Formats: sequence, C-alpha cells, structure tokens
Amino acid sequence: MALKTPQQYIDSLRDGRVTYWDGERIDDITTHPRFQVPIGLVADDYRYDDAEYGALRRYTTEDGSEAHRIYQIPRSEGDLGDRVELMQHTSIGTLVTGVYMALMSVKDDVARVNPMYAENIERMYRHCRDNDLRAAEVITDPKGDRKRRAHEQDDPDLYVRIVERRKEGIVVRGAKLHITAASLVHELVVMPTKGMRQEESDYAVSFSIPVNAPGVKIINRSFAPAELNAFDYPASSHHSVPEGFVVFDDVFVPWDRVFLAGEVQLASKLAQSLGLWERTGGLVEAVRMSELFVGLAQLVTEMQGKDQDPIAQNSISELITYAEMLRMALDYSCRHYESTASGMVFPNTLGINVSKYYYAANYHQTVRYLHDLGGGLVLTLPLENDLRNPESGKYIRKYLHTKPGVDVETRMRVYNMIRDLTADAYGGWQFVVALQAGGGLPAQRVMMNRTFDMARAKRRALRAAGATLPDAASAVTTPQR
Ligand SMILES: Cc1cc2nc3c(=O)[nH]c(=O)nc-3n(C[C@H](O)[C@H](O)[C@H](O)COP(=O)(O)OP(=O)(O)OC[C@H]3O[C@@H](n4cnc5c(N)ncnc54)[C@H](O)[C@@H]3O)c2cc1C
Repeated sequence: MALKTPQQYIDSLRDGRVTYWDGERIDDITTHPRFQVPIGLVADDYRYDDAEYGALRRYTTEDGSEAHRIYQIPRSEGDLGDRVELMQHTSIGTLVTGVYMALMSVKDDVARVNPMYAENIERMYRHCRDNDLRAAEVITDPKGDRKRRAHEQDDPDLYVRIVERRKEGIVVRGAKLHITAASLVHELVVMPTKGMRQEESDYAVSFSIPVNAPGVKIINRSFAPAELNAFDYPASSHHSVPEGFVVFDDVFVPWDRVFLAGEVQLASKLAQSLGLWERTGGLVEAVRMSELFVGLAQLVTEMQGKDQDPIAQNSISELITYAEMLRMALDYSCRHYESTASGMVFPNTLGINVSKYYYAANYHQTVRYLHDLGGGLVLTLPLENDLRNPESGKYIRKYLHTKPGVDVETRMRVYNMIRDLTADAYGGWQFVVALQAGGGLPAQRVMMNRTFDMARAKRRALRAAGATLPDAASAVTTPQR
C-alpha cells in the first residue's frame, strides 16, 4: 500500500461508477470532456513530488508509512496549523476527504454506544488512508416538507433510511443532495443530516460505501461552463468540481462498513462533528478569498488612477476589516483548540461557528465594495478572443488604456478575476455557497447558543446589575458543552 500517482488516481476512477451529466450517462468519466478539469484538479493533489507543495501533502503515519496529510489526525496546535496550510493549497475534491476527521473525532462517543461501529470507523479510516483514497461528505437529505419529521413525509425515502436489515448488513434507500465531488472520490461517507427521534431509528444511519457500489447513481451539476478558458475564467478554471445528486437505490452495506444503524442518540453527534470540519474548510477558503478581494480592489483602483481618493480608500478599508477579522478568527479557533478524550484536537467549536457565521452573514455586502470600485467593466469586458483578434484587439487596447504603466492585458486579467470570482460562474456559485455550504446561518446560530458560556455571562450581568445571586445563574438554563 502506497501513495498513488496522479495517473493511478485517474485510472482508479474507471471502476464502473454510474454517473450522469447533462442528460448523458457517462461510462468512463476519465475520458469525458466535462470531467477533465475537475479530475485534473484532484489528480494534482496526488503530486507528492511537487517542489512547492509535495512535502505539505505528505505525512508519516504512526505505522511509519507515508500518507496524504488530509488523513493526519491533529494532536497539537502545530498539526492544526499544518492542516490549515494544506487546506489553502488543496482542491475541494480532496478537502472533502476531511470527513474522516469528523468520524474520528466522534469515535470515542460512538464506542460507548456500540464498539463495533467505532472499530469500523477506525478500520475504514485506515483503509482509505493506506490506499490513498478520497471520500465525499454525504449528509444533506432532500428533506421534503421541512416542517415534518423524516418518518412523516409523503414519501418515506426523502431522508436516507434502512429498508432492510440482513445478517450480513443493511440495505439503504434514499438520496443525498449537493454532494461536492461525489463522482471524483472513491468512498461516499454517509451521515444523518440532523438529530433523529426514537420513531425515526431507520433514518439514524451512517456508513461508507464505494462510489461504484451497485445501486449508487450520481447526477452531476457544476457552475463552470463546459469550455473553460483560463483567461476569461481565471477562478472557475481552478475550482471547477461538480456537485452530485446522489441516489441510493437499495444499496447493500455490509456490517463492517456501518457506523450507525438505529441508535438515534448518535445521529446529531455525527451531523455536528461534520459541521465543524466543513465550516473550518469554509473559513479557510474565506480567509484566502477575502485577502484576494483586498488585492483586486487595490489593483483595480490604482489602475484607474483613483487610489488616492478617500471614498475608494474607505471601501478598501472595509475589505481589509473583513479579511483581517476572518484571518484572526481562524487563528483564534486553532490556538484555542479543543480535544477529544483520546487526544485528537479540533478547532474551537464556538470560534468556528461564530466566524463562519460572520463570514456568511457579511459576504454579500462585502462583495459590493469590490463591484463598486470596479465599475461596469466587471460585467462587460470583452473576451480574450476579441483581444487576440487584431481587428477588434486594437480598439480594446486603445480604449482600455488608463495611464502609463498600466498594461491593458493585465487590467483585463484583473477584471476577469473580479467578474469570475464574484459575478459570474464561480461567483454565482460562491454567492450561495458562502451561505449554505456547511449549513445555513441558522445551523451556526444553534451551535453558538449551545456552546457560548452563558452561565459566566449571566453571572457577570448579575454582578454588573448589583445583584449578588451567584447561584441564580446556574438555576436558569446553562449551556450544553
Ligand atoms: C455548492 C454546495 C455544496 C454543498 N456541498 C455539500 C456536501 O458536500 N455534502 C453535503 O452533505 N451537503 C452539501 N451542501 C448542502 C448544504 O449543507 C445545504 O445546502 C444546507 O445545509 C441547507 O440545506 P438545504 O439546501 O436542504 O436547504 P433548506 O434546508 O431548505 O434550508 C434553507 C433555509 O430554510 C431554513 N429551514 C430549513 N428547515 C426549516 C424549518 N423546518 N423551519 C424553518 N426554516 C427552515 C434553513 O434554516 C435555511 O435558512 C452543499 C451546498 C451547496 C450549495
């Protein structure tokens, strides 16, 4: 067992998986034009000999073997720092393999309920790590009527459920939506989307299953145009990974791959653990992007000769505030990490939820500053082919001139980046992702209310109010930690 090469990864996808895109069933995604860019992005993460990022991608396991760092269980602040660094330079198709961190972080709790599930988590983690596999985070159910519980829906399959229990395993039916990179990974790690009640025990189900398992079908969708051009689409061409509408059409899951099958008390624990790691990933991306916003805003402002203008400077300082708040929040969350009983560390739960909330709640207003500074060319800049065509190109070069020292092609690249990142293919996707990926705003609010030290806040409030009732604080509701 060893690290895979990029080619070995590509070959491993030729395994009979059932995938669809734009009305077509695709038998071999490795040769299909729609999959070339995303497969290339994930394959890049297998370049362990890369001069710049090769060392960051590898780590030595406790068994002495080499594995991708996405599998490294953080045991210190330094390990968390390495993980954050890795996340900044890794495709989203690999990042989702972080789902194993979520599983490993709840393993101790799972063991208390059923040791077999905990053993399965550990074995599957090692199987994926040692075979250099990638896994998707498969949690969001279609959910039907949101006001009704899973078992009350018109169609009982609107949440993934166990339809049969056999001696050798379980049979599951249902679908999971929006699954990032589902067609590009090897394993689908399925978890309940939320807590389940006793009467919903068939819906309290978690397992890992290969993408090519009989009954698994994936319908793909991506924000990226079919023909990606790195000049016109500088952001989309580097982030294009399809999301999958994943169907489980009576899929058999052997017991040694099951992490939960009916023990409702574990359902929300699993869902929450994934939420934390997903939100950490979202925050890392937010830090990277918010710094890009500042750079792009400054460049476009300088190129148009308005960098000394106080209004432009005010807008840029708003962008700096956003970027620095996010950077400090991520830093804080890693420094003030928490630990499981077995010594695995994970980012501060309250810190991550507050920061992901801040990022999402302010994203749309913040992008406005960049659009305001850029002006209409953000949307109407001519395409690269028109620049390269001498007949039209001469006019583009003439009329997009601003001042000496500003190269028109560079100016166009800056505009293309602003448009693609915030107002076109990737940008449209990101507008919704900022809000929804890792759970919408209410999901973070719930976690904040649960983890904030309310007892201390109440004690302080009482003291400030001149009341000396220290016990009153704990007599009312106390936070669940
Ligand atoms: C690009 C993208 C990638 C994603 N990647 C993944 C992935 O890899 N894996 C994965 O599992 N998921 C993924 N998601 C899913 C994401 O976590 C969900 O979209 C998010 O949790 C919201 O769920 P929903 O889409 O079902 O919307 P809804 O649940 O309909 O939520 C929309 C709004 O309705 C509110 N709402 C929901 N229920 C109720 C109710 N009962 N009463 C009142 N209000 C309610 C919510 O709070 C929210 O404000 C991805 C999403 C996107 C957009």
